[in-house]
Amino acid sequence: MKLVLENITKVFPNRNKGEEDVVAVNNFSFEIPDGKLVGLLGPSGCGKSTTLYMICGLQKPSGGKIFFGEEDVTNLPPEHRGVGLVFQNYALYPHMTVRQNILYPLQNLKGDDKLSKEEMLKRTLEVAKLVQIDNLLDRKPSELSGGQQQRVAIARALVKMPRVLLLDEPLSNLDARLRLQTREEIRRIQKETGITTVFVTHDQEEAMSISDMIVVMKLGIVQQIGQPQRVYDDPANLFVAKFLGTPPINVLKGEVRGGMLFIGEEAILPVKGVADQPVTVGIRPEGFVLDERGPLHCQLSGVEVMGRDVSVVATHEASLNPVIRSIISAESGVDTTAQEIRYSLKPHKVLLFHAETEERIPVEV
Ligand code: ADP
Ligand code: MG
Repeated sequence: MKLVLENITKVFPNRNKGEEDVVAVNNFSFEIPDGKLVGLLGPSGCGKSTTLYMICGLQKPSGGKIFFGEEDVTNLPPEHRGVGLVFQNYALYPHMTVRQNILYPLQNLKGDDKLSKEEMLKRTLEVAKLVQIDNLLDRKPSELSGGQQQRVAIARALVKMPRVLLLDEPLSNLDARLRLQTREEIRRIQKETGITTVFVTHDQEEAMSISDMIVVMKLGIVQQIGQPQRVYDDPANLFVAKFLGTPPINVLKGEVRGGMLFIGEEAILPVKGVADQPVTVGIRPEGFVLDERGPLHCQLSGVEVMGRDVSVVATHEASLNPVIRSIISAESGVDTTAQEIRYSLKPHKVLLFHAETEERIPVEV
């Protein structure tokens, strides 16, 4: 089932005189296609959870409409929306077993939705199998690892067969290895069930790795929506470019003169169709090529070996960050004793931004 947000806004009125209202979500419109997993991504406080709570009905929008399929659910209470919700802190009932925790939402079904005892147990076992905790049904939450507890929370969210699954930073409490494993699990479960899913995270790598589409937010405003790779390759503005990618994009001051990009006095690349102007230049770490005759001269600070690749750390007067970090194949043989290092650049890894508005400036290819 598709999920449609139409001009959704949420304003929290200020509590103290003289302070402004908080616009947590500002005019958010988006259609999530049926059966897709969408990653809602942005720094802390940008309005991700508020958006999720409006989708599930725990918070009411100040403006706009929400549709599940063709049904307007804007004023429908949460229990009638058919959403499954998973939080960062699992929120399991500590005194109940895993089985009882998963059963609980079914026991609360009323009227026509009421199920027989056998049906409830059958469903519980099914979802427990799906998230691979069927061998743990008699344990209490305290007898489980963090990753297992989160699986129970996911099972509990799925047992009512929700129309939409909402996950709010579900992996944040797990250690690095479990985080990786559990995110792959979530992807598998989502694919197997085909439930339209919104996954909230502040971790760009997490969102990029499991989402069909990502929505990047800043201060309540959607910055860009698209397939992860598209957004990475073709960011709409400097904020999005900086938010996606590890190591992050390198940012330098530059200038376009006569169709040529200059960094300092060095002529770097032809940039067709760009008017003369000062620009902010973003260079992805994988966009550097070691080249004795390359136009970009940097001062070498160090080389970090990462196995297959090396990360070369250098400085440049025009850099807006303390260092420039490039990723170079270990075989390319960096002279670690050199003072200076010279690069040529892969044109499609060099992005131009308006020096003041920080909007992307397209370059003709
Ligand atoms: P995120 O989940 O992206 O970290 P939130 O959606 O929780 O962000 O919050 C967005 C903004 O709305 C923040 O500035 C936050 O302080 C504010 N906010 C969230 N909930 C409330 C509330 N109940 N009352 C007042 N302000 C709130
Ligand atoms: Mg949040």
